[in-house]
Amino acid sequence: MVERSWAEINLAALERNLRLIKDSLPPRVRYISVVKADAYGHGILPTVARLMQSNIDLFAVANVKEASEIREMGSGWPILILGPLLDEENEALLELDLIPTLSSQIELDRLCALSRKHQKKIPAHLKIDSGMGRYGIWREDAIELINEIKKCPEIKLCGALTHFAQPSDLEFTAEQRAHFLSILDQTQIHKENDFWVHADNSSSLRSFDRQTIFNAVRIGLLQFGVSPPQGSILADLPVEPVLSFHARLAMIKKLPKGTSLSYGRQFTLKRDSRIGIVSAGYGDAIPLPCGNHAFGLVDGNPYPLVGRVTMDQTLIDLTDAPPDIELGQKVTLIGRQGNEEILLSELATHAKTIPWELLCSITKRVTRVYTTKRE
Ligand SMILES: *Cc1c(COP(=O)(O)O)cnc(C)c1O
Repeated sequence: MVERSWAEINLAALERNLRLIKDSLPPRVRYISVVKADAYGHGILPTVARLMQSNIDLFAVANVKEASEIREMGSGWPILILGPLLDEENEALLELDLIPTLSSQIELDRLCALSRKHQKKIPAHLKIDSGMGRYGIWREDAIELINEIKKCPEIKLCGALTHFAQPSDLEFTAEQRAHFLSILDQTQIHKENDFWVHADNSSSLRSFDRQTIFNAVRIGLLQFGVSPPQGSILADLPVEPVLSFHARLAMIKKLPKGTSLSYGRQFTLKRDSRIGIVSAGYGDAIPLPCGNHAFGLVDGNPYPLVGRVTMDQTLIDLTDAPPDIELGQKVTLIGRQGNEEILLSELATHAKTIPWELLCSITKRVTRVYTTKRE
């Protein structure tokens, strides 16, 4: 089948990134690989298969459905669910041998009941809301919940975590850390054998403190070779992009000066032009706001996208390209051609969004092609 748009995913780069991140952390710090949302659009099965060979300590996903996809690949790999479970999902915890996150009396009661029903102890990580205002027991109520958990022998509390709201704000993040650590200090839950204490994600690694009791990190974006937009990370790691995105130059046409392009007529040609039609649109992975802002690489050179992006086709201004430009050739929207490179984070900026969302908006129509380039 001829591909009209495809994402090339370099699994060797993923592994190199992982090693780079791990090497920059103290050896006692364990690596939780976050592979929610189809491994950030990279395709959960091939990504996870590679990560299983790469020395990660724990997989984290958003929900039971995602966990079940990993579980189908084999038993034994520990999988942590990061979000709140629906009551009907609880049975799957035991069936699939998953580790839930716990943040409320309601969840504790459900887990205890489940454990009694199946006569099986359930491991769980406690999520504390130290200032994110999302999932997690609010910090002022955390000690009370911990006391309740201690009364419940059916639950094996084996970790505690919190999540940062704005890692670029070092002061607020430090406060969140302090709130979280003070709860551990008062309850001493982390003194249990083999207890996981984690907070840091890709964006907060910058403020990771090697001396503290944090002994795990939860990494999503960075392992895929995309540096978070807000400031540098630990040691400014030179991670490599894992994903590149390409389409093809389907047609070229000449249009006279003064012609308006595409829906809404948001772009008018200022000169006689040669306009290329790229075989992908927002139905693939090119966000609507990229029209008139982003670029595509053709034959190693960048050319501007013009007019509004449509579902299946995007226009590119090739007026300045050599006259003999070939139809059918690759147009790169994310990735490298020769000496030119378009970073995913740049396309995200043009799309007025964040890299995480851009990765999640690569649709099913885009074939994922897996490579293991050594570079
Ligand atoms: C998604 C997520 C992460 C990973 O964040 P990145 O910024 O992609 O590294 C970590 N922790 C939680 C709770 C998450 O939901």
